[in-house]
Amino acid sequence: MEKKLIGVDLGGTTVKFAILTETGDIQQKWSIETNVLDEGSHIVPDIIASINHHIRLFDMTADQFVGIGMGSPGTVNRADGTVIGAYNLNWKTLQNVQADIEAGTQIPFAIDNDANVAALGERWKGAGENDDEVAFITLGTGVGGGIIANGALLHGVAGAGGEVGHITVEPNGYMCTCGKHGCLEQYASATGVVRVARDMAEEFAGQSKLKEMLDDGQEITSKLVFDLAKENDVLGKMVVDKVSYYLGLACGNLGNMLNPAYIVIGGGVSAAGTFLLDQVTKYFKQFSFPTVRSSTSLKLAQLGNEAGVIGAASLARQFIK
Ligand SMILES: [Zn+2]
Repeated sequence: MEKKLIGVDLGGTTVKFAILTETGDIQQKWSIETNVLDEGSHIVPDIIASINHHIRLFDMTADQFVGIGMGSPGTVNRADGTVIGAYNLNWKTLQNVQADIEAGTQIPFAIDNDANVAALGERWKGAGENDDEVAFITLGTGVGGGIIANGALLHGVAGAGGEVGHITVEPNGYMCTCGKHGCLEQYASATGVVRVARDMAEEFAGQSKLKEMLDDGQEITSKLVFDLAKENDVLGKMVVDKVSYYLGLACGNLGNMLNPAYIVIGGGVSAAGTFLLDQVTKYFKQFSFPTVRSSTSLKLAQLGNEAGVIGAASLARQFIK
């Protein structure tokens, strides 16, 4: 009988799980709440209990699984199977995730950071079409990324490879949480889009519902900015053009350096769809050189929420004998 993979996508509010075939088809999925109380000390025991419970529920046993793969926030040490500094989980000290989960489930375990794992998912079963050269950018509360080159994730010497969110797109620009100025994340994340809107509204003198709402102190989201731009709001369109410029600049430089088959854009902000993609592509073509322009294409992510569990499960394929 063909063995199965387990994918775990660990986030600050939920832990998502899936059982997949070796070829990446999801057969079962479920989720639990992430209990971040007591310095996140319940998280790993909860994951172990949930996996063991579901294996029993599906009348299966540990030896029917090739392995478990997991995507985690924070700084992941893949060799040691540990995580540190995942502040949305309250994990401030070193967590021996791999040792604990292997002991608790009797199944081999592999781990990588959440953005890398989402990149692997989109590459394997989504917009990446299983190509060996794929760059992935996720636009959410922050901006994350993952780079697959020669068929493997780029990790760099300290695991910071593929941190697309900290590409400098505006020297001397907005201060970033990383301490540097002008990072892509400050302009193209959900909060970044709102920040750009707020700043552009100050200098804007024309007629705009977006400006009225901002001046009125109303709650603004990146989705609202895109929706108003789609309705031809003048300021809204200016903000989307600016955000697209920064994203196109970052994609142009990624393309010039890596020449991937696809640069895949995912995450909540990418729900703006082809409206966003078309404008980013315009600037990407401006900032990439001819060979890249004609061989690298930008695409929207296709897997949504499932990219994490699918990519995580793909980590476990290293255990296939
Ligand atoms: Zn930064």
